[in-house]
Order: sequence, then C-alpha cells, then structure tokens
Amino acid sequence: MKVFEAIAASEIDAREARLLLAEVCGFSQAALVASPEQEIPYEVENAFFDFIKRRKKGEPVAYILGRKEFYGLELAVNPSVLIPRPETELLVDLTLESKPASVLDLGTGSGAIGIAVKFTRPETRVVAVDSDLSALMTARRNAAKLNLEIDFRHGRWFEPVAGERFELIVSNPPYVASGDPHLAHLRFEPQAALVAGADGLDCIRDIVKTASAHLLPGGWLLLEHGLGQDGAVRKLLAGAWLESVTTWPDLAGIARVTGGKLK
Ligand code: GLN
Repeated sequence: MKVFEAIAASEIDAREARLLLAEVCGFSQAALVASPEQEIPYEVENAFFDFIKRRKKGEPVAYILGRKEFYGLELAVNPSVLIPRPETELLVDLTLESKPASVLDLGTGSGAIGIAVKFTRPETRVVAVDSDLSALMTARRNAAKLNLEIDFRHGRWFEPVAGERFELIVSNPPYVASGDPHLAHLRFEPQAALVAGADGLDCIRDIVKTASAHLLPGGWLLLEHGLGQDGAVRKLLAGAWLESVTTWPDLAGIARVTGGKLK
C-alpha cells in the first residue's frame, strides 16, 4: 500500500492520519507529503491501522502518540493525566508575568504548568502537587527529561504543603459539571481530573477556602475555569478576602482564568 492510499483508507482526518503514519514509520509528516507514492512495508501498515482503529473508537491522538506539546515543550502523556490544553498556556503566561519567586502548582497532572514555568524561568522555586500517584510519576519523568528541579508532592490540594506559603498558587483543577454532555468526548481522560460536582465548582471551592493560608502577602491565586463560571469564581475569591479579583480571556475569547491576590 502506498502512503496516499493508506491515508485515504484510514477514513479519518488526513492531518491526523499523516501524524499517526509519521509516528509508525519514523519519518516526518513533511516527508510523507513529499512522497505520496511511496510503498509502505506491511509491518508499518499494520501498526498504522492499529492506531487508526484506536482513533476511530475515540481515543485522543495524544494518548495514541503518548505525547502532547505544551508551551513549546514535548510532554509524555498517558490516561492517568489530563491532556494539556492550549488554553491552559494562559495560566503559564499570567504566572510568568508576575515573576513570582515561588509557585505552587495544584493538581499538576502531566506537570504541564509547573514544568513550563520552571523551564521558562529557572530561578522560580516550583512545588507541584497531585493526589494521583501515577500522574505524579508522569510529571516527575517529564520534568527529569528536561532536567528541571521541581519539588513534586503527593496529596490532595494543600495537604502536602501544610504550613508553607507561596508567592503564587496556580491551578487547572477539575471544573466540568457532572451532568455535562461534553464528558462523553472526554471519556478517555481521568474523570477525577475533569469532573467537580453538580456545578463543576466543587474543587475550586475547596482550593479557594484554604488558599489564603498558603499565600504570602500580595501573592496571587490563579484558577482556570470553564465557560460561564467566571462570575461564580470571582464571587468565591472575593468571599475569601482576596482582592484585585480579575478574569482573563483565552485566545478564543472565553473567560478562562480568574485570579485574586492576598492583601
Ligand atoms: N478544558 C477541559 C475541557 O473541558 C477541562 C479541563 C478541566 O476540567 N480542568 O476539555
């Protein structure tokens, strides 16, 4: 079978098919575009159609490839971690803008936020927490591959940082409402990293309740949230005595991050 035939026979989006074919044959996508008439060895063809079968069942490309690009860095991902989303890069931008000396990344998952911060600004002390040990192992390996010294700790939210304060606390917590039909599309990802009660705000409430006790004076709490949750999150932050409460839109114009600072 030739390259162009395999891509057509896959019956999936041609760009995705080329990405998966490039992975199994070890050539770049550009090389495949340049050589559509190239014959593919049958082992490569078999491996390709194994990938295609998984993709057709709805498995995300990032899990099939075992990696995802985030903030220009390549991170290993697997079903124990949420696949980093491009909109979450906003949390990294906002964190870097405030040039904090210390950052706490709550629910780090693949390690994406903490790793991007530490990579871009190595002088930052980064502590990253996750309640899922498999996720933490993934994050640790991702940081090690980039030679980044991040202090990874196992536990739920602030549990492993008792008595410690930070200049900035950042989190992409679970924020999808339990009845959200969108969850069907997210079924391959860890539900514990996605779902947060009937209104999707359970985890944000938990974090906000205790955040002030872990912020240094003037320190910021930055939280990612979903479409339409910004008003509720602003109210929660204001209710926790945080000031300068602000919401920032992502690149699609959706209110995506809300933050506030301790007096
Ligand atoms: N942005 C994700 C989605 O809805 C949700 C991520 C999260 O809950 N933290 O696809």
